[in-house]
Amino acid sequence: MTTTATWNELLVGDELAHLATEPAREARTTPLPDSLQPAVREALARRGIEELYAHQAEAYTAAQGGGNVIVTTGTASGKTLAFNLPVLDALAADRHARALYLYPTKALAQDQARSLGELGVPAVRAAIYDGDTPTERRRQIRSWANLVLTNPDMLHIGVLPRHDLWGDFLHNLRFVVVDEAHVYRGVFGSHVANVLRRLRRLARIYGADPQFLLASATIANAGELAQALTGEEATVVEDDAAPRAERTIALWNPPLLDAELGLRASALGEASRLLAGLVERGLRTICFAKSRKSAELIHRFASDRLDAETARRLAPYRAGYTPQQRREIERRLVEGDLLGVTSTDALELGIDIGDLDCAISVGFPGTVASLRQQWGRAGRREQGLAILVASEDALDQYFMREPPALLERRVEAAILDHANPRVLDGHVAAAAFEAPVDEGDAATLGPEALDRAPHVPELRHTARGWVWAGKDAPAARVPLRSTSPDSFLVVDASSGDVLGLAELERAYSTVHEGAVYLHLGRQYLVRELDLQARRALVEPFDGDWYTQAKKETETSIEEALRVERRLGLELSFGRVSVTEQVVAYQKKAAADGSTFDTVPLDLPPTTFDTEAVWFVPRPRQLEGLEAMPLLLSSLHAAEHSLIALLPLWAMCDRWDIGGLSTNLHLDTGAPTVFVYDGHAGGVGIAAHGFDQFEGWVADTAELLAGCPCERGCPSCVQSPKCGNLNEFLDKAGALTLLRRMLAT
Ligand SMILES: [Zn+2]
Ligand SMILES: [Zn+2]
Repeated sequence: MTTTATWNELLVGDELAHLATEPAREARTTPLPDSLQPAVREALARRGIEELYAHQAEAYTAAQGGGNVIVTTGTASGKTLAFNLPVLDALAADRHARALYLYPTKALAQDQARSLGELGVPAVRAAIYDGDTPTERRRQIRSWANLVLTNPDMLHIGVLPRHDLWGDFLHNLRFVVVDEAHVYRGVFGSHVANVLRRLRRLARIYGADPQFLLASATIANAGELAQALTGEEATVVEDDAAPRAERTIALWNPPLLDAELGLRASALGEASRLLAGLVERGLRTICFAKSRKSAELIHRFASDRLDAETARRLAPYRAGYTPQQRREIERRLVEGDLLGVTSTDALELGIDIGDLDCAISVGFPGTVASLRQQWGRAGRREQGLAILVASEDALDQYFMREPPALLERRVEAAILDHANPRVLDGHVAAAAFEAPVDEGDAATLGPEALDRAPHVPELRHTARGWVWAGKDAPAARVPLRSTSPDSFLVVDASSGDVLGLAELERAYSTVHEGAVYLHLGRQYLVRELDLQARRALVEPFDGDWYTQAKKETETSIEEALRVERRLGLELSFGRVSVTEQVVAYQKKAAADGSTFDTVPLDLPPTTFDTEAVWFVPRPRQLEGLEAMPLLLSSLHAAEHSLIALLPLWAMCDRWDIGGLSTNLHLDTGAPTVFVYDGHAGGVGIAAHGFDQFEGWVADTAELLAGCPCERGCPSCVQSPKCGNLNEFLDKAGALTLLRRMLAT
C-alpha cells in the first residue's frame, strides 16, 4: 500500500480547486571544507555529518571571505548548520572570539541552544540571556559564554544601554546571527533595524566589526531585507541543495452555498473532514488554524467523525500548555501514538515535531512564507501532502482561482523603514545615551540619525557630539512593536498578564469597551478602556461573536513626494494626515457574519501622520460612473479590493493598511482613492504599493473579475475592517474603473 493511493481517494470533488505535485529533489552535496577546525569536523562526524549541502558550503565560503550572508533556502534545508558552521569554526579557532544569536521568541532561542549543546563542539560555551535569566547568572554568562542567545528586546533595553558590562564581549564580537529574519518586517523590523545599527556602532567603539549571518524563509527580496536590517550589503545564498520529498499540494475550496451572495460552507467543517479522513488512514497530520477557537472546533468536529479509539489519537496543541505538556505532545506525535494535532498558526514557530505525512492550513496564514513553513511539515516519508483550505477572505479566494499567484510567483517582499522618524527618534536618543553621537556615526547609525538628532528632545549638542541630557535610560520608553510611544497596554484582568500593546491610532477601533480582541489565537472581551491610564482591561471570552468598529475617517495631504503618470492617471505617494473617530461597533455572529447588535461609542478623534499612495481617476475612466452614489460605491469597492491584495506584494497584514475613498476630496478637488500605511510615520508599505502599482492593480482587477458572486461579497469587495460597515460598494463599477486604468 502506498501513501499516495490512500490520500488520493480523499482529494476528489468540486472542492478541489487545484492539485499539483512538487517533484522530489536529490540532494547536492559537497565534502566538508578542508579549512574546517578539527574540533568542528569531529563534532559533525559524531552526528553522522560527513558532507554539506552545496548551499551550506556556499554560505561557509562567503562567511570565510569576511562578508555578511543571508541564507534563504526552504524549510528543513539545514539553514541552521549554514550559519552555525562559520561561527563554530571561529569559536574553535580563537578562544577570545564571541558570537551573538538573535531569536524573535524565547522558545526558538531555547531550541537553538539545545541543538548547539547536542552538537557538542568543546570550545563552544553557549548561554541564553533573556528576561528569564536570573540576575545572579547574568554576570557569569557575560564573562564565561562565547555564544550568547538573546532576543531583540533584551538587546535593546538590557544589553546595549549597559554596554560597559559587555565591553569584553563587544570587543571580541565576530558574528551576529539573525535567524528568522523575515519576522523582522513592518514596525517590528523597522525597530530591530535600528537596534542592529546601534549594536554595530557600539561594536565599532569597542574596536570590533562583526559579520552578520542572517537566515530567512524564502521571500522576494532577501538581499534587500539584509541591507535594510543591518545597513550593510550581504551575499544572498538561495540555491537550495537539500533533498526534498515529493509533495502533493491541494487547494481546497469549501462549496459555494449561495452563489449570488458568495456564501460558502465553513472552512472549519471542511478541514475537520480532511483531518478525520487522513487520520483514519493512519497518516500523521497537523492542522493549522488562525485562532484557538477554530483549532478547537476542528479538533471537536474531527473527533465526532471518528470512532472513539481513533479519536483518542487526536489532540489540540495550545498556547496555554506548559513546555512539558507540549514536549509530551511532540513526543507522542513523533512516535506515532498521536496521529492528528490541531494548532493555532501563532505556534508554528515553536513547534518541534519533525516531519509528518500531511499538513493542513485552514485559511491563508497571511504570508506565503508562513504558509510554506506550515506546508514544510509534510513529507516524512517519500511523499507529503500539503493542503490549503480557503476561507472566504478575498486573498484566499483569489488563490483558489489563480493558483500560480500562490505557487509560482515570488512577489512577496519583506518591507521595513528604519528611517521613519517615529521609529528612529527613540533609537537616536538611545544611541546618544549609550555614547555621544557625532558625524562619524553616520556610517553605522545611518545619515538619517544625524539629521534627526536636533529634533529629539532631551538631546544636547556638545563638543563630543549629541549627548543624552535626560534622566532615565531612553530605550525603556521605546517599545519595539509600535511606532507610537503613546500606546495602550492590554491587560488580562483575570491573570494580570500584559498581553500586548495597542497603538493609540488603533486602540479605539481594536480595544474599545465591548470589543472582542484576538491575541495569539485566543479571544478576549474588553471590559474597560481607561483613556487616562492608557490601559485596556480584557478577560478571556468564549462567545461565538466578534465585533467590527464603525468609524469616520478623513485624510488631508501634507506633502506629495512622488507624482507620476501611471495607468493613465495621476498617481501620488506622500505624507498624509489621517483623522479617525470610532463612533459605534457592531456585534456579529461568528457562524455567518450577521449583525445582531449595534452599540454607540463616545470616543475622541485621533489624528496621525503616515504615508499614503493615492490616485485621481481621469474623467474618461469614470464615464458612466459619475452619478452618486455609484461614483462613491465604485471607488470604495476598488479601495477595498486593492487593500485586500496589497499583502500579496508587500508582506504585511490587511490590518496594517487603511484606506479612504471619496467622490470629492478637498485637497485634490476630484474623486480620489487613498491607501495608507496604518502605522504612524509609515513603514514602507504604501511606498511599495506605489512602486508596484501596475501589477497590484492588475491582480485586483483579476480578483474582481473572477469572483462568482453577483454584487460583491466578503471574497471580493467587502472588508472585515470597513469603517462604513461595508455600505456603498459597487463591484461592477470598481471593475470597470480598474479595467479602464489597465487598458491605457
Ligand atoms: Zn465576490
Ligand atoms: Zn470601507
